[in-house]
Amino acid sequence: MDAAIITTYRCPMRCKMCNIWDNPTTIGEEFKPELLEKLPRLNDVNITGGEPFIREDIEDIVKILLKKSNRVVFASSGYFSDRIIKLFEKYKDTPQLGIRISTEGLSCKNDELRGRRGGFDKGLSTLLELRRMGVKDVGFGITVSNYNSSDMLQLYELNRNLKMQFATAAFHNSFYFHKYDNVITNKDEVIGNFDELIQRLMKEKSPKSWFRAFFNLGLINYIQGGRRMLPCEAGNENFFIDPYGNVLPCNGMEEDKWFGSMGNLNDKSFEEIWNGEEAKKVRDQVANCCKSCWMIGTVSPVMKKYIRQVVPWVLKNKLRVMKGGKVDTSTIPFFHVGNNDLQGLENFNPNQCYICETKESK
Ligand code: SF4
Ligand code: SF4
Repeated sequence: MDAAIITTYRCPMRCKMCNIWDNPTTIGEEFKPELLEKLPRLNDVNITGGEPFIREDIEDIVKILLKKSNRVVFASSGYFSDRIIKLFEKYKDTPQLGIRISTEGLSCKNDELRGRRGGFDKGLSTLLELRRMGVKDVGFGITVSNYNSSDMLQLYELNRNLKMQFATAAFHNSFYFHKYDNVITNKDEVIGNFDELIQRLMKEKSPKSWFRAFFNLGLINYIQGGRRMLPCEAGNENFFIDPYGNVLPCNGMEEDKWFGSMGNLNDKSFEEIWNGEEAKKVRDQVANCCKSCWMIGTVSPVMKKYIRQVVPWVLKNKLRVMKGGKVDTSTIPFFHVGNNDLQGLENFNPNQCYICETKESK
């Protein structure tokens, strides 16, 4: 299983696409690091917030999660660069530990959208210092909104030239972000820029980039309002821990649609929560969820689980590019892998199924 640990809702940034900073937790409300000892063995863990490095005890959290997981990656604004450098000094020889610094574009755009002057310079200098120290798993992460999709391409080129990782997202509405008006209105422009990113990713030599091209196709589909290409198995293949110790299936829920917690780690063991009645109810709600979020926390686990279904799309499009063609972004594949037909129903077109089409063409 993969997990995302939301360490805090405190944040020094003032982002336009997220109101976490305006709805902070108090230090007293946040879980103690020892609570994480209750977690099972994990695959990929994302440490997020708010701003995780705002917690004075972040190192205790990392220590526990590194024991339990194959890979631990921070999502950080980079604001507390001294704390980041200090922590990675201790773990620079631990290849399991990585970081993505969230950046909304080049310097002017980033600082405008994140509401703090000098944020871009701080983020870039932190990454460069980590690189100098020999930390390998570092890079930028961008959340694309109406205002920054062209900067995304420039940021991608910067990453590629620095040989760093590049994570993308599109803004979403949810209880987590305290946002309900995150809607992309300049769709043609944003989709055009994602299309260009996909073409460039597919030209790279690294298979990781080819799968990132697939992920970004899912973002185009999300922006177009399509049903998820792969089912959402939140609460089965992954979970989130919120700062209060609640075990949640995802961070995409909206209270006016549905919201479910499986239980609180302060009250029970993880196993009791995971196998309990509340968890069953939450999984039913996930199976019937009308949303079609496409966020890495719930997409990455199913891309791994259904890798055999995703690979033919990747290979087919890589071949097209090798022959001088382009990735086909006009056809959005739908992978019918035993999905509940009610999930994302509003946007379901049964003729979309990539696997069924593939079988027929065989
Ligand atoms: S997007 Fe991240 S950095 Fe910005 S306010 Fe939200 S939690 Fe803070
Ligand atoms: S689609 Fe998945 S991630 Fe989004 S709200 Fe529904 S269950 Fe959560």
